[in-house]
Order: sequence, then structure tokens, then C-alpha cells
Amino acid sequence: GPAPESDTDARQWLSRHAQGFGHFIDGRFTGADSGAHFETVEPATGLLLARIAQGSPADIDAAVTAARAAQPGWMAVGGHARARHLYALARTVQRHARLLAVVEALDNGKPIRETRDIDVPLVARHFYHHAGWAQLQEREFADQVPLGVIGQIVPWNFPLLMLAWKIAPALALGNTVVLKPAELTPLSALLFAELAAQAGLPAGVLNVVTGDGATGAALVAHEGVDKIAFTGSTEVGRLIREATAGSGKSLTLELGGKSPFIVFDDADIDAAVEGVVDSIWLNQGQVCCAGSRLLLQEGIAADFIERLKRRMQQLRVGMPLDKAIDLGSLIDGSQLDRVRSLVAAGVREGAQCYQPSCALPTGGSFYPPTLLTGVQPASTVATEEIFGPVLVTMTFRTPDEAVALANNTRYGLAASIWSETIGLALGIAPQLQAGVVWINATNLFDAGVGFGGYRESGYGREGGREGCHEYLKPRAWAARKPRAAQ
Ligand code: NAD
Repeated sequence: GPAPESDTDARQWLSRHAQGFGHFIDGRFTGADSGAHFETVEPATGLLLARIAQGSPADIDAAVTAARAAQPGWMAVGGHARARHLYALARTVQRHARLLAVVEALDNGKPIRETRDIDVPLVARHFYHHAGWAQLQEREFADQVPLGVIGQIVPWNFPLLMLAWKIAPALALGNTVVLKPAELTPLSALLFAELAAQAGLPAGVLNVVTGDGATGAALVAHEGVDKIAFTGSTEVGRLIREATAGSGKSLTLELGGKSPFIVFDDADIDAAVEGVVDSIWLNQGQVCCAGSRLLLQEGIAADFIERLKRRMQQLRVGMPLDKAIDLGSLIDGSQLDRVRSLVAAGVREGAQCYQPSCALPTGGSFYPPTLLTGVQPASTVATEEIFGPVLVTMTFRTPDEAVALANNTRYGLAASIWSETIGLALGIAPQLQAGVVWINATNLFDAGVGFGGYRESGYGREGGREGCHEYLKPRAWAARKPRAAQ
């Protein structure tokens, strides 16, 4: 196979910060030795990557103060000037694409093929797209004003992409940001902040405070924050909802999912099998919109499962920088334990477990692609978000049964329908309780289309015009004519 991706540049960048990373506040890294630290490690090896500052309420306060001070100026420069900054950020991401992709693969454990071909290009496109909205702001959103200072909290599964989804619209429309990356994957946000400053982003417009849930909670509680935008688990989303209730802060939540992948008898089976691979084994299944419930029409179920098993035998699990692998490491040992225990629960509840015999590297948190068949709709594995490379299958007879099974969840993020009868697919789509429905496709992300959930998958949209509205508030204008003119 091809030689593994080189990590020389990433190691050099890390060694420049060998004393530890401070927070990125007001355009520069704060002293790294001032307070408590934690470590971020490579999930694939368990080895130390960097020392990271644990953000205190005082750090959050310093960052919010910097963001507050910068916001009037950032709004006043106007949409065209902000667009130039967003274009510069997009170009910076492209120029440093390899470094960003390697840092992300090291810190998260996902395959370099994904960070290089999916995460980083989507990040660049998000900034390009939102540069366009900045340019159009005065015309398209004439009766709206920015919210002010935005607190943004992101998870570990797509650290850089979730950063882009959060900060691109916020900055485009004249807000300033305090971002709290996940404690397991803080590196790409710190690298991005450094690159953004080099690309001329004014100090205070983007601030990054690292830390754990307590740091996030301090950001949520801070009185100087006008809005919280959160992506993460439904449990933490609920806590944030309670913490912000009655505070006057705006809130959007992008939470978990248990998305259906529905295949009808007349589907293009080869394409659907590839779709399943993309849907549940991308990022080791640690994807909020993963098609984690495979719903098969009875006529094709047995054949489909046979073909899927054969395809699973070709999947390679390996080190993130190996360009030939399909799955890397799960994020950490506790996620590995969670996946193992959920699969064991599935088997206890009567499911059959299939795992291809594939060699797993040692030392990290590797888990093979897994298929559970004979799953009961009410069982734990059919209802709980596993957030790992585990697919559960169930069968249905009629389109109505497919809809009922698909909607039998407390979530509602995404859904995928496979059929060569377009009328059937288009008839089913509006009946599905999901914020995003893909037909004969999966994982289509477009900066111009709002992404977000129904039900316990949260509310608010990221991307497109609808995503812009999440960072603006309406302002009505009325004026009496001067007396002289009456
Ligand atoms: P998590 O909720 O544990 O953590 C997410 C972030 O919230 C982290 O930065 C964490 O430090 C912070 N946090 C934790 N407790 C907090 C608190 N009390 N107050 C404020 N912040 C707090 O989620 P995770 O395990 O990092 O991510 C996995 C989850 O994210 C999954 O459920 C997945 O479905 C979801 N997710 C959703 C989307 C989406 O767009 N809907 C995208 C990616 C991930």
C-alpha cells in the first residue's frame, strides 16, 4: 500500500508548543503555566500529544471580555470587510490542509483519508459559503442585527468541522465568539486560532478556551454571552437548556441521533451496500447522523445481509495515518467500553452479532465493524445511540411499516431512503421525523443547506440562509415624520 502520511509538520507544530498550550484570547496564546492542565493523547496509541490548559471561570471571563470589546468594531467594518476575512480563513484552511488533516487524525483517531478528503475540504467550503452571506448581509438581512457575543461548545467527533459550522456563520454576520472545544480533541481548534490570527483576523473576534464540561458550564453561565450554540450529547444539551432557561440567552442545540437507513426491495443493492458502509463506518460510527438502524424490506433482507457481510470483510481497521485504512480508533477507552457493553447487551437481548475477522492494532481503542441482526425494535441496541461502528438491522414488509419503524425513536436527525421508484421515496420522505432526508444517498453535507434535528436531536439549523438566522435577531424600525414635513 501507499506510505503512511507524514506527521513531521504536525510534530514540529506540537514541539513549538511543548511547554503546553494556553487559551487563545484576544489574538494570542495566554501563558500556559498559569493554571491547571490536562493532557490530550493519541487515541490510536494512548501516547501524549500535548498539555492543554484547563479553563477556569476567570479564563472564560477574560475571553468573553475580549469578545465583547471586539464586537462593535467587527460589526462596524461591514459585510464586505468581514467577507474578505472569511475568504482569508478559507484560503488559510486550504493552504494548511495537510497539517490540519494530520493534527485532526492524530488527536481524534480517525483515518487521514477522511480528514484529508472530507473534514478539511468541508471546512474550507463552509468559510467560502459564509463569506458570501457576509457580503449579502446588508441587503438580505436588512432588518436584522447580530446577537453579539456567542458561546460555542463542540464535541470530539468532528472537532474542526463543528468549529467551522459554528464560527463561520457567527463571524460572517458580525458576532464575536468564545469557542470551547471538546477536552478530548482541543488541538485543531488551537491550530485554527493560531492560523486565523496569522491570516489577519482581528484580536478578540475568535477566542478559544480549552477545558472540560465545567469550563463549558462556566461559558453557559456567563452573563456576557448572548447566545449558546451547542453540539454534543442529548444529556448535556438538556443540562444547558435548563441552565439557560429564563436567562435571555438564545440557544441552539445539535444533539444525538439514531437515524434510519431504509432499503426497499427495488433499490440498487450495490449502491445501497456502499451507502451503508459510508453511513455507519465513517469516523468509526461516531457520527451524530450515522445511519445506525438498517431497515430492510423482507424480500431482499437475506441477500442484502450476505452482501453486506462480504463487504465488511474488506474493511481495514488500522492506524489513522495509514492511507489505506477504512476505520481508525475510537476516541478513547471509555467509548470502547461503552460500545462493547452495548453489543453485549444486544446479544443478551437475542441479537446475532457478526464481526469480520480483521486484525486490530494494539495499544489504542480499536473496535471492528459490527452487524447485529435479529434485533427487536424495543431493544436497547435499537433505541440507544451507540456512537460506534455498530449497525443494527430490522425488517419491514410495507412502506407504512417502514415509516413506523423509522419514526420509532426519540431522535430525529437524519434519514436515508433507497428505492429506484422515486415516487415511493418522495412519498415516504415527508412522513419521516428527521431534519434531513437523503434519497439514494447518505451523508450529503452542503454549506448551503440547513442541518439540524427534530425532537431530542435538538433545534436550530447550521448552514444556508436558515443557519444565518440563528446568529441574527430581527429589529423593527419605525419613525414619525418630522413635524415640518407633515
Ligand atoms: P458531550 O455532550 O459529552 O460533550 C460535548 C461538549 O460539551 C464538550 O465540549 C464538553 O466538554 C461540553 N460539556 C460537557 N458537559 C457540559 C456542561 N455541563 N455544560 C457545558 N458544556 C459541557 O458530547 P460528546 O461525547 O463530546 O459528543 C458526542 C455527542 O455529540 C453524541 O451524542 C453525538 O450524537 C452528538 N453530536 C451531534 C451533532 C449534531 O450536529 N447534531 C454533531 C456531532 C455530535
